[in-house]
Amino acid sequence: RAQSIGNLLAKGPTLSFEFFPPKGPDGEAQLWTALRELEQLAPSFVSVTYGAGGSTRDGTLAVAERIAGETTLTPLVHLTAVEHSTTELRQVIGRLADAGVRNVLALRGDPPGADPQAEWVAHPEGVRYAAELVELIHSVGDFSVGVAAFPEKHPRSADLRSDVDRFVAKCRSGADFAVTQIFFRAEDYLRLRDEVAARGCDVPIIAGVMPVTNARQIARIVQLSGQAFPTELAARFAALDGDRPADQAAVRAFGVEMATELSQTLLDEGAPGLHLITMNRAAATREVCANLLAGPGAATEDVA
Ligand code: FAD
Repeated sequence: RAQSIGNLLAKGPTLSFEFFPPKGPDGEAQLWTALRELEQLAPSFVSVTYGAGGSTRDGTLAVAERIAGETTLTPLVHLTAVEHSTTELRQVIGRLADAGVRNVLALRGDPPGADPQAEWVAHPEGVRYAAELVELIHSVGDFSVGVAAFPEKHPRSADLRSDVDRFVAKCRSGADFAVTQIFFRAEDYLRLRDEVAARGCDVPIIAGVMPVTNARQIARIVQLSGQAFPTELAARFAALDGDRPADQAAVRAFGVEMATELSQTLLDEGAPGLHLITMNRAAATREVCANLLAGPGAATEDVA
């Protein structure tokens, strides 16, 4: 039976994994191999991102339906307001309800096209901010609704203070939990968490963590998130990077070590959940989880 993430969080820290809808048969096979392997770790839930265009959107819904129908996993489905009227949004939400999906991450989305930082234009019959989507989802059915959080502030926000004010207002529109943008410094997450708590908001903020497995991913992370990658970390990845397989293995090992250390710090600090970005591959996520189970220091020993 599908579980509500709100209820899962009440029982203790959650562990969850993020996937994206595949393109083509090879991508489909890769996704399902990773999902089945990671299913063995019995995660609290798994999420599926929502694409910018028609076919990937159908892909999101198809993957979510299959997870709900054929696996033991609890799906969280990302949904964005981009290029959707409220009528279409209601249809998508209804389809999710029919499939037994109970958890939705309500996002405004970025403008379609190559530049995610381009000007955002709402659909004339759609919603303008994620907070409105939260309300819409609750009006359609019995869902546990999550929202996005930005430890380094949303790139469009003028400053941290106004960003936290908007975030708290979004939570008060009916969010049951939040999931962060990926970040690499625990202090950014802790500052957001403390500022949100100081405003009297107790919505659990699940931390998004990505094990970097090759140096090229860093440029992509910067492009998609609109955030800077910590300079010192980027320099350490660059120093390890090279053409030899041994160099690539060293980059990967460092990425897993960084993600393990960050995750361990967050758990020690009382984060309510960890959400690992898998890139539709199981290995690095499995290694981070194994290191966490083995306890503090294990990752460093593995790499040595
Ligand atoms: P909002 O909460 O609406 O905020 C957008 C901006 O508007 C912010 O700067 C905010 O401060 C400001 N704002 C909010 N309310 C008001 C108001 N009332 N008045 C003035 N300003 C306001 N994108 C995808 O396309 N597909 C995905 O699957 C996806 N998954 C994601 C998962 C996570 C965990 C995260 C963190 C992001 C994800 N994104 C995804 C990216 C996300 O859609 C973008 O970052 C988007 O720009 C912000 O969405 P939001 O829901 O935070 O927007």
